[in-house]
Amino acid sequence: MASTDNPLLLDFTFPPYDVIEPKHIRLAIRSILSKLEAELIELENTAKPTWPKLVIPLEKIIDRLSVAWGIVSHLNSVKDTPELRAAIEEIQPAKVEFELKLRQSKVIYHAFKAIRDSSDWENLNDARKRVVLMKLKEAVLNGVSLDDSSRERFNEIEQELEKLGQKFEENILDATKNFEKLITDKKEIQGLPFTILTIASETAIRKGYEEATADKGPWIITLDGPMYRSILQHCSNRSLREEVFRAYVTRASYGPLNNTPLIERILQLRLEKAKLLGYCNYAEVSMETKMATIDKANDLIEKLHNASWSPAVKDMEDIRDFAIGRGAEEAKDMDQWDINFWSERLRESNYDINEEELRPYFSLSKVMDGLFNLAKRLFGIDIEPADGIAPVWNKDVSFYKVKDSSHTTIAYFYFDPYSRPSEKRGGAWMDVVVGRTVVFSSDNKSPRLPICHVVCNQTPPVKDKPSLMTIREVETVFHEFGHALQHMLTRQDEGLVSGTKGIEWDAVEIASQFMENWCYQRDTMLSIARHYETGESLAEETCLRVLSARTFRAGSLLLRQLRYASLDLELHSKYDPRAAESVHDIDQRIGKKTHVIPLLPQDRFLCSFSHIFADKYAAGYYSYQWAEVLSYDAFSAFEEGGLDNEHAIKAMGGKFRETILAIGGGKSPNEVFMEFRGREPSPDPFLRYNGLLPVVVP
Ligand code: ZN
Repeated sequence: MASTDNPLLLDFTFPPYDVIEPKHIRLAIRSILSKLEAELIELENTAKPTWPKLVIPLEKIIDRLSVAWGIVSHLNSVKDTPELRAAIEEIQPAKVEFELKLRQSKVIYHAFKAIRDSSDWENLNDARKRVVLMKLKEAVLNGVSLDDSSRERFNEIEQELEKLGQKFEENILDATKNFEKLITDKKEIQGLPFTILTIASETAIRKGYEEATADKGPWIITLDGPMYRSILQHCSNRSLREEVFRAYVTRASYGPLNNTPLIERILQLRLEKAKLLGYCNYAEVSMETKMATIDKANDLIEKLHNASWSPAVKDMEDIRDFAIGRGAEEAKDMDQWDINFWSERLRESNYDINEEELRPYFSLSKVMDGLFNLAKRLFGIDIEPADGIAPVWNKDVSFYKVKDSSHTTIAYFYFDPYSRPSEKRGGAWMDVVVGRTVVFSSDNKSPRLPICHVVCNQTPPVKDKPSLMTIREVETVFHEFGHALQHMLTRQDEGLVSGTKGIEWDAVEIASQFMENWCYQRDTMLSIARHYETGESLAEETCLRVLSARTFRAGSLLLRQLRYASLDLELHSKYDPRAAESVHDIDQRIGKKTHVIPLLPQDRFLCSFSHIFADKYAAGYYSYQWAEVLSYDAFSAFEEGGLDNEHAIKAMGGKFRETILAIGGGKSPNEVFMEFRGREPSPDPFLRYNGLLPVVVP
């Protein structure tokens, strides 16, 4: 195939997702890499400690690779095929090798050092200073100062880690797909909502049971997110709940898809890498690029643990008492697979709300309208559908443009909402297609517009009904949209620190969790919640009950997050591959402190913990809690101004946009937060909203 036929090698404003095939990827990435190799040699020959002779050409190299590889890894996440996996496996080593060469370039490192040591240093703006310091640190953490033999070993480790991360994620996807259970007797799935029954019968049709209907079955149940959660919450058949729960928490933990050896190897390699770099453990390496330190992160976990343990014990007592009151046999001896079921019944009873009856009020299009109206209200932007402008990878993907108050287009995003278990990985995320930067414009002034993907895994539309969402799914869309806003509304012209780039990782969840808070705000919820058929609004009284249910079991839910955060920090700071205690033993030990009902001894949650083994959260899962504290504190600034005071909301929204959403990695997150809030962050709003702070009586 001639390179001119390869869609990945042609110039494009929007990636040609409709025509890229695995066969294009090998050739395109190879060709891009060899061109970039030549550019790197040229840069090393001509580098000077100035922006035009160092940073601009370097940014162009980094950008070319990250845009191309971003497309490949995006397709890997949303359109998995054996051919694509094979192509990635083949070209990934060359890509890693080039990245290492780039980050370990002594010429580039010394040129950055020369900028830092020059008399001009003080004249650089904050963003440029941050770029220089970030690049120096990145070079050191990538082994620029190692001697040849250590660097060789370092590079082997990086290659192996990249492969392990890829394999880890593939195993989870395959293990999740492997579980299927055919149900022919409706009694077995009693309680399961009609939406989920429909999905289960449609799965059965796809698998050859052509006559399947939601009412009469047969049904095929899977471990796909919306179905798994629904079975645990609603299915009264205890043994089915147990079977599904056990299957879920042991995914990728046995047979050919077993992730345990991969976990051990990843931890061992990360430790070795840390030692090569002169650190005691990998958590220390990770903290070099975070706001927190290991001690500060542990302190926060400890503080939140103290605030949430007693409420969680009380939650469990309430659930047990409730189940006893309902004459449930399992009440005396509750197991993990009973908690969600009974807590859902208790929630229905306490707040008189039923998740399934609420679904029709949360159809995707109305939720998006409400979200976009909120974005307009807070940040003065207009979001318009722009389907057809950009090629997409699936018919359900939509495309939008974002306009400023002057009606100028400032950004674009794709939205891929529904769960597609056969080809899409679980969870939800925002990732970057291209970021804002001025280096590609002839006058170095007009920026390239940011583009990103927002990907969720929510309940798909069934039959003639649109996607009807649970509140949790609504919250997830708000969360990912918050990340997207930070990417799209940046005003940062330095591409290496624009949008979410260059932000300390434990600060990136501020914007996302901030948006979650709005979804639980009365006016927002009322504007979203309209019946998809009748257009009728959710009764205000029901809305208020939904809002007050937000803090239901807040302590228990926080504790679960603390399990993940503590486990991650412990594995990356204390794990000893020679010790008798296995990684799963460590999880069990930590689980005793975070689960009122002990974990199942066979629980192999770690085998599907992609955040820390296949994503960027290694020794960084605590970031969710760290940033949550900041995001609640940010939200409380709006409350202080009065949530019914439109003028105050606009003013505060403008301030949030110009600081947290605009500056990107151009200043330290502490400074950015101080600029927005006018003071240091406080954890009190977070604890108070979650009902975890004792009310002080004056
Ligand atoms: Zn997030």
